[in-house]
Amino acid sequence: MSARGVAHFRGVDDLGRDVGTHEEFWLKVKRGAKNADGKPLWYAKGIEYWDAIDADVDGVLGGFGHVSAADARDNARVLRDVYGATLEARRASGEKATALDCGAGVGRVTSSFLIEHFDEVDLVEPVGHFLEAARVDEAVTGAGRRDGHRAVGFFKEPLEEFTPEIGRYDVIWIQWCIGHLTDDDLVAFFLRCKEGLKPGGIIVMKENNAKDGFILDLEDSSITRSHEYLLHVIDKAGMRCVEHRVQTGFPKELFTVSMYVIQP
Ligand code: SAH
Repeated sequence: MSARGVAHFRGVDDLGRDVGTHEEFWLKVKRGAKNADGKPLWYAKGIEYWDAIDADVDGVLGGFGHVSAADARDNARVLRDVYGATLEARRASGEKATALDCGAGVGRVTSSFLIEHFDEVDLVEPVGHFLEAARVDEAVTGAGRRDGHRAVGFFKEPLEEFTPEIGRYDVIWIQWCIGHLTDDDLVAFFLRCKEGLKPGGIIVMKENNAKDGFILDLEDSSITRSHEYLLHVIDKAGMRCVEHRVQTGFPKELFTVSMYVIQP
């Protein structure tokens, strides 16, 4: 899979039926039913699914709210190891450290982790009642924190339409949401993220790994990509994965979860 463009990843749906290679699958999505705005119905179906889910941690984690602490712990470790020195330098120079929480849901990643490390955090999330829950949760907004860390931006948009402000972010954190994006939209989003980073800034993507190929979830209109497939998409965006780690301490019945530190 080293050479670009020759990779083929086969998919199965949640009933075990073959859905073709990733190219065939995304072509079908693109050529399939569309909304009035011309967007593949694929996206509307994803939003429709989340619209019906409770706006709390158990809701966004599909009933696995109890893994949130282990998740936050490993997030903090990888951030410290790959970006801790830069964050210290920011602090020393009086410059604000900023992060973007992508597909933020109810702001769980922000409240459990990002707000501890960044002066300013922005959240982008397309589902209205999730974003509203985040906006009024002091653990997310940081209201009352002594260190002055705050969530400042709340953007109600899907990632395939969102453009980060140029040069604003140290870290763009993308966790458990890119399964909703087509490969092309994900690559395009990575490229916009690149513009949104400060010099030396990083993207961290944290995702479930299918064992191979991909698994289509018909219920929430998303796919779970394999490790090789995710690396392929990073490569397609012309970026490098400089660090890969596997989440520790999760229940065995869950997918393997990987963290990818990506540098443009
Ligand atoms: N990252 C959060 C939420 C995970 S749940 C966390 O780890 O707690 C998946 C999230 O992806 C939901 O909030 C859902 O609304 C969001 N989502 C669905 N489609 C999306 C899209 N096209 N762009 C961005 N986020 C999307």
